[in-house]
Parts: sequence; structure tokens; C-alpha cells
Amino acid sequence: MPVNLLDFDTHSLGSWFAGQGEKPFRARQVMRWVHRAGVSEIEQMTDLSKTLRARLAADCVIGAPGVLSDSTAPDGTRKWLLDVGARNGIETVFIPETNRGTLCISSQVGCALECAFCSTGRQGFNRNLTAGEIIGQLWHANRALGADLMAGRRVVTNVVMMGMGEPLANFDAVVTAMRVMLDDHAYGMSRRRVTLSTSGMVPWIDRLRETLPVSLAISLHAPNDELRDRLVPINRKWPLEQLLAACRRYIEGAAAAGDADDEDDAPVEAFQKVKWQRAGSPRDFVTFEYVMLRDVNDRPEHAEQLVDLIGDLPCKFNLIPFNPFPDAGFERSTQDAVLRFQARLIEAGFVTTVRKTRGQEIDGACGQLAGQVQDRTRRAIKREGAANAA
Ligand code: SF4
Repeated sequence: MPVNLLDFDTHSLGSWFAGQGEKPFRARQVMRWVHRAGVSEIEQMTDLSKTLRARLAADCVIGAPGVLSDSTAPDGTRKWLLDVGARNGIETVFIPETNRGTLCISSQVGCALECAFCSTGRQGFNRNLTAGEIIGQLWHANRALGADLMAGRRVVTNVVMMGMGEPLANFDAVVTAMRVMLDDHAYGMSRRRVTLSTSGMVPWIDRLRETLPVSLAISLHAPNDELRDRLVPINRKWPLEQLLAACRRYIEGAAAAGDADDEDDAPVEAFQKVKWQRAGSPRDFVTFEYVMLRDVNDRPEHAEQLVDLIGDLPCKFNLIPFNPFPDAGFERSTQDAVLRFQARLIEAGFVTTVRKTRGQEIDGACGQLAGQVQDRTRRAIKREGAANAA
């Protein structure tokens, strides 16, 4: 098997070069070619000697997932279904906005966590992605979108680990890929522009804080344990009290890690003004994602419970109108319910945004497109078996 250069961060590539009897600094040169210049062929790395290029070409590849489909919605949202072998597809979505471009990246093929409202969760878990398959999504998007990091033309300004899968359940590969995102020899992104979204795997939140404290988002979706046990079953293992304590520890750890190189965006600035007095570390906060499910978690009493639950934890809320999919069993909240919910959170001092529904024409809900290509995980097979038996 050839070595995939996308599987490395600079440090591990340096060790690999050392193991080959080469100078470790070659790693920095190669990282710049692969990630900043976006080359796909080792032959293009013109500041390496011909001999070294020939050796690398014999042993290594730059192996990003291939493209199964590529679609662009009228609002500019672009979605790729990428081939990770064995008839499995993963989704990568680019969302252009006025001041930024956000790339939503997948971390697993399917997901084991079975959140009740999630299309990926319905497909079951197939396997973890490798570091190369994760960073390969950003590598591919930059090339497809015409970015030129060498010339300072950045198209993807933000990355969210929010696609298919639970990123903390694939910790090592995700951290390696995020190190490459932050590395100045590669994508050079601020840690505040890389967001990891988790359903709440508490011990791994602590590990992330100690390892690479990027921005943290929590798929919250319910204001009490009873409802969250139902919507996000991992809550039965790590209930809200433990989850919120981990969030507090994370904010303290992230603040200690510091980061002076960012020009944060408008909602964060607004958040800082609101929360400065409350929090010791105003530039760090947690984003709580809350999918709005009609008559399930969107009532005024849920907003009240949420305000009480979160208290003075530095955070902002992102309310997500539910994107229905076949047999979802949930409906999208009415516009009135969403606005009422948002108004209550804002009144309580929380910056609260409502996510625009983007790319619905190209199956915007997480996991939908991949689900159409492949759904042959154990859970899907079990479902099929039950249906056939009925
Ligand atoms: S919401 Fe996230 S963690 Fe939950 S099933 Fe879907 S992909 Fe997995």
C-alpha cells in the first residue's frame, strides 16, 4: 500500500521522513505543496530534488476521496458526495456567505449514536474515516472552489466538523486533521475558525481541551434530561449536568490556550459585549445547537428551562429549523415558534441565531445524500429484515 501524504500532520510526516533517512524539514516543504499549493502530483513539488521526488512518487500518493456527485443549490450551497470505497459515500458541504465560506466536513461513514431526528443516525455506523479522508475533504474543496492559499486567496474561511458522524468518536484521526487545518505550513486557520460539534462525549471533550482546544459546539437539542435522553440517547450515559460541567472546563482551558490572531465575526463581537461581565474569558464560548422540532422541544416552557439550565455559561445558541427526511417522525417548528423561542433566549441575554435553511434542493439534511447511495449498515439490514418479515 502506498503511503498517503494526506494522512500526516507536519510532525508525523517529519518522523516519517526521518525514518526514511531524510531530513525532517522536508515535511514542511511537502505540507506546503500538498495543502497550500494543493498539488495532486509529487512531480509538481519543484523545490525537492529530482531524486527525492522519484523516491516519493514510488512510495507515496496524495490520495483524497474521489467525487461521486457535485451539486450546487440556487443559493450557492455546494455539496459533494465523496467516494470512500466499498460503495460508501460521505458528504462535504460548502456554504458561502457574505463574509465567510464555511465547509462542513464528515468524520465517519454513518454514525453509531442514533440521535432520533438525524438522517445519518438512521443509517447506522460503518467505519471511521482516516485522517487523510477527513483533511482530504478540505483539500478537495479548496481545489474545486479555486482557492489559492499561496496567493492569499482563501475561499474556505471556516471549517465545522458537523457532517456525518460523531467526531469525538474518531478522536485521533480528527485531531490529526484539525492540526493540519491550524498548521501555518498547511491551511493556517485560527483555532476559533475550526469548530468541532459533538453530541456530548464528556471524557473526550476534556481530552480535546487538553489536546487542541478548537471552537466547541454541542448538539444540545433539549433543555432537560428526560427529553434529551430521547432525542440524543448518549445523554443517558453523560447527562446534562456532566455535559455542562465539561463545557465550563473547556472554556477555561480554551481561554488559557489563548489565540491573538483572529478577526472574529459579528455575532461573536455581539456576544462579547453581552457576556463580558459574566465570563472571565470573553473570547471563548460554546455554541449550543438546537434543532427545532414542532411540539417536541420548541414550546415556551422549553425556552424557560433552557434559560435556567444554561445560566451564566458563556455561550451562543444556534436554532436549526428541522430539515425533514423520509420517515423522520418529526416536523419542522413553525416560524412563529422559532421566533418566539429565539426572542426568549435573546431577552435572557444570549446571542441567538436562527440557521438559514441552505441547499434544500440538494438534500440539505445531514446524511441524506449519502443515505440514498448507500444504506447497508447493520442497522439498515436489521430494518430491512424486520420489514420483510412483517
Ligand atoms: S446528530 Fe450527529 S451524533 Fe447524532 S446521530 Fe447524527 S451524526 Fe451522529
